Amino acid sequence: MNSLDTRTRSKRLQDAAELSKESPFDLLVIGGGATGAGIALDSISRGMSTVLLEKVDFAWGTSSRSTKLIHGGLRYLKQLDVGLVREVGRERAIVHRNAPHIAHPEELLLPIVENGSLGKYSTPVGLWVYEKLAGVKKDERFYSLDKREALVQEPLLNERVVRGGAIYREYRTDDARLVTCLAKTASKQGASLFNYTKVTSFIYEAEQVVGVRLRDEIGKKELELFARTIINAAGPWCDEVRSMDTKVSGKRLQLTKGSHLVFSQKRFPIKRAVYFDVRSDERMVFAIPRGGCTYLGTTDTLYQRDIDNPRTSASDVDYLLAAANHMFPGLKLTAADVESTWVGLRPLIHEDGKGPTELSRKDEIFNSKSGLISIAGGKLTGYRIMAERAVDQAMATLTAMGGSKFKDSRTEEITLDGGDFAHYSEVSTYKERLLGEGDQISLSVDWVHHLVDTYGKSAQDIVERAYELHPVEQDPERRMLRAEVEYSVECEACASLCDFLIRRTGRLYFQRPALAKLYPLAADLMATHLGWTDEQKRIQILDFESEYEAVMSWQEEYAGISA
Ligand code: FAD
Repeated sequence: MNSLDTRTRSKRLQDAAELSKESPFDLLVIGGGATGAGIALDSISRGMSTVLLEKVDFAWGTSSRSTKLIHGGLRYLKQLDVGLVREVGRERAIVHRNAPHIAHPEELLLPIVENGSLGKYSTPVGLWVYEKLAGVKKDERFYSLDKREALVQEPLLNERVVRGGAIYREYRTDDARLVTCLAKTASKQGASLFNYTKVTSFIYEAEQVVGVRLRDEIGKKELELFARTIINAAGPWCDEVRSMDTKVSGKRLQLTKGSHLVFSQKRFPIKRAVYFDVRSDERMVFAIPRGGCTYLGTTDTLYQRDIDNPRTSASDVDYLLAAANHMFPGLKLTAADVESTWVGLRPLIHEDGKGPTELSRKDEIFNSKSGLISIAGGKLTGYRIMAERAVDQAMATLTAMGGSKFKDSRTEEITLDGGDFAHYSEVSTYKERLLGEGDQISLSVDWVHHLVDTYGKSAQDIVERAYELHPVEQDPERRMLRAEVEYSVECEACASLCDFLIRRTGRLYFQRPALAKLYPLAADLMATHLGWTDEQKRIQILDFESEYEAVMSWQEEYAGISA
């Protein structure tokens, strides 16, 4: 049985709960972000029976709202966090190797500006150290630019402030797709993963945690699930989950908020990604072209409000617009140019006296007396090594309990779902092949790019579905969308219109203007495939419309500020 088919989810969940009473899972993971999904893959591939519970959707938390870079973290070098730079640098290469379709090499331009955080001499030295630590291959290393060269590379840069620059390499990703790939890979190896299952409390025996109570948010049922070890990977909610077990004392989380703005490429037509100084403080922000858009981010401010509902504020928009207009003055960007936004919360570890930007991005494991293991902090880029560390701890507990023996982590060698390319260059060859194969169903270039960049080699599955639909769906656009919706429901645990348009396909962020026409159609297709009643469909549409509005909810406040 496909274990990410939404249509069989309720039965699978019920069965897993029943079965776990007799035979508890080896490991239960709380949280379906990059960390939790990475843990599920690590543990199942070591031979541990694994179940993962996510309260909303996979990647619903921070892991769909990051800057979407697999990066070594040049800024950590500034903080002299050499160990972290080395580790994430190494992990960066592993993600690219194991999922080349969602870790695209991106050459970034670093402009050197007068009184900026990067100096003419310190930049090449810093980049050299950075690349040495990260083990960057010779042909992928940075090169320096003088002022003229920097302006040729990016003519929109502010020529009054730019003194030179450098080009270095990172990787652009889609965070939510990375999580989906991890979930699919773990599921194919035998892990049980459930979205819309909120852990509400723990179950104990002899003061040791042996299971959880959960709420099935779709089936509207309370269930119990038992496991020999439990890892809390709830990201920004980590302390909330810890506090269900014990009073949180000592080290705790400190959340910071990061907003991003999306513009059309026409309005923000940079030729390449730029990582540049914000004039007003010591921070740097990214401007990254992607598809028909350019996105800009991020902010970094302390956050103490509702964790479930962070929103981009008018001051976030103001800050980012000012930064972009200083570095690219010819653009004269205004709030009216913003097409969409997203905002995420960094689950960082609190350090007394440190401001948001100074807090380390290191991960941390908290062990509770009850046996609950909690992991937080870190980076999307480092999800694999974080998972390995957390599962090592669970394995030590299982070994101490006696019985089965498990293997060491092998995720370094596991290709993620759809990423079965011998080399990155094969991704474009594959696109060409698919385009040729799609002739009869009028498969367009745009669809091929979208499918391969989103699903990698699993795109084939969607194209085959489109062929099967050919006789019944005459319109090529509707046919492709239907094939994609059905694939998403059956193979990617897509259970709502928001899942599909936000996390499985990123359309709310990157194609918001075009969505007004598309979302009613997507709702119809999902309703048919999932058998929604009219009332259920209406609620799904309302939920989506509320997210559609929420990404621009700062506008009213902004009008007030600028009036
Ligand atoms: P999350 O993704 O938040 O996952 C935790 C999950 O737990 C959530 O989905 C939540 O719904 C679930 N959960 C909570 N409570 C419960 C419960 N009771 N029961 C069941 N489930 C529960 N890193 C990079 O490497 N590159 C970047 O470019 C980058 N940019 C960033 C930009 C911003 C603005 C931010 C905020 C972070 C950025 N990061 C980046 C860091 C990175 O995004 C995070 O470190 C990472 O996504 C955290 O993943 P996670 O799985 O730990 O947390």
